[in-house]
Amino acid sequence: MGKAVGSVKLGNLYSGGKVRKRREWRGLRDTLYDYWRWLKIMKMLTAFLMHPHNVKGFLRYRWMLNYVAVPAMIDKHTVGLRGNHLRIAHEEYDLVAEDVAKLLDTAFRADRACGNDTELSKKIVVLDENEMFTIMGGFPTLKGISWETAAVYVAVLLHGDAVTHYLDVIQEMGVPGDVCPMPAAEAGVVIDDDIPVFGGCVIQCNTTCDGSLMGNGIMARRYEAEGIPVFQIAAPLRHLEEGVQEYAAQEIRNAIKFIEDSTGAKWDWNNYFECMKRFNEETQHRVSWMEMSKTDYPQVIGANLALYSETTYMAIAGRVQDFVEADRKISKLAEESYARKEMLVPEYRHRAIIWGVQAQYYTDFLPWLQNCWGILPLVDMLSLVYFDKVSEDDPEQAIYDIAKLYQEMIMRNRTHGGYEVLLDDLWRFCKEFDADMVILWEHISCKALDGMHGLFEERARELGIKLVWVNHDLMDPRVIGRQAIRDDVNRYMRSVLQEEPIDPSLENLDDEHAW
Ligand code: SF4
Repeated sequence: MGKAVGSVKLGNLYSGGKVRKRREWRGLRDTLYDYWRWLKIMKMLTAFLMHPHNVKGFLRYRWMLNYVAVPAMIDKHTVGLRGNHLRIAHEEYDLVAEDVAKLLDTAFRADRACGNDTELSKKIVVLDENEMFTIMGGFPTLKGISWETAAVYVAVLLHGDAVTHYLDVIQEMGVPGDVCPMPAAEAGVVIDDDIPVFGGCVIQCNTTCDGSLMGNGIMARRYEAEGIPVFQIAAPLRHLEEGVQEYAAQEIRNAIKFIEDSTGAKWDWNNYFECMKRFNEETQHRVSWMEMSKTDYPQVIGANLALYSETTYMAIAGRVQDFVEADRKISKLAEESYARKEMLVPEYRHRAIIWGVQAQYYTDFLPWLQNCWGILPLVDMLSLVYFDKVSEDDPEQAIYDIAKLYQEMIMRNRTHGGYEVLLDDLWRFCKEFDADMVILWEHISCKALDGMHGLFEERARELGIKLVWVNHDLMDPRVIGRQAIRDDVNRYMRSVLQEEPIDPSLENLDDEHAW
């Protein structure tokens, strides 16, 4: 019992409270491995709290409380996994957790309310949560830090309710309740004075939508009130068009000059190209995992692909060798499992493309899909980004590459750019990945995707693709809870396809209060 994939009724682990009844028994070898990884995470969290500035940060910022759920976050994304698949997931999540701990350590060390290290603060460039960090590859003496990633993006990943307080705060200030919760929560953190203050300058990007622009405007006012200069990269939205590329490149040249002028640092081509060599290798690994997913034996899929890809592509951007090392290990493990035809769950019933913007408070919905219904989340929209090789030695071309990457940031590359990237590409990927199903995240506050309903349905019907709409409100589980998300799938599977779940204990879960 427990060693084989699918041998445990996973719904029995839920207790109705914040944490599960018990840890999952995976057979002796895998349970010991999982426990050893858990101990390493606990060691890392303890080491983090040994620094006085981190203790101050923990007590000063309301959103820091969510970080007690780091081990639970890893558990919920490794549920049901065995053997190499468990090891792949730990390589990914543990490294991301370590990277976030470093981010927080630097932020609190520099923060005026905690460590107040003014020399360090001058060397920090503050970036948006949803922004490529590629530009920082040319500034090895500076640090790129996004406090939004720590306070909002990761906080909700750890604890579904993490930012509801900040959403209330910003709505009390008059921002409508139907604004996307991501920029609304970031602005709420600023209005609530829960923002760590540091930095030699700030580089914002016009991300994707009206909500993001609103949020950036509120933050820019705060930075400037603190004497921290702000530059806003206005990357073109019609990113497929050749005519906008010169303008986009000039925005990057201007941003580089702004950082140089604000910090005194000089752009370093050697370091930039070193980063891009790593970035290209990371892209190759990701593409090879996706190639495997086109076969009968996918290995790196679902949330494990999505969350790790978001980090490596956007936030790491080739700047950290540890991520390349992890990629190599993941590829080796995946190739071994592929050769042995190992499966993630006992039965594969449907091959799905996950499209639209995910519910950040329920990223473990993807493992639930595979464990409960045997629906394989092969690849998701946010992982399908820019795969072309970027220049490793030509400074002129490099500026255009950086500009292209800023235009093709995660989410932005599909929510903007025209119907080719949002609609046509979806059907192309269905064909390439031999998918018979699309799980379409319907983020109800995302203006960028609203209104496309009919177009998606019409084409899915023509192509014979099973299209399942899954409603959510990105970072506000009070609007649409986790069970309501699951019920969108449960209803479809039972009433349209007349199927029974692989693991019926997962169909209805008491996890409303879970982390
Ligand atoms: S999810 Fe939609 S509304 Fe929210 S930031 Fe992204 S594009 Fe904008």
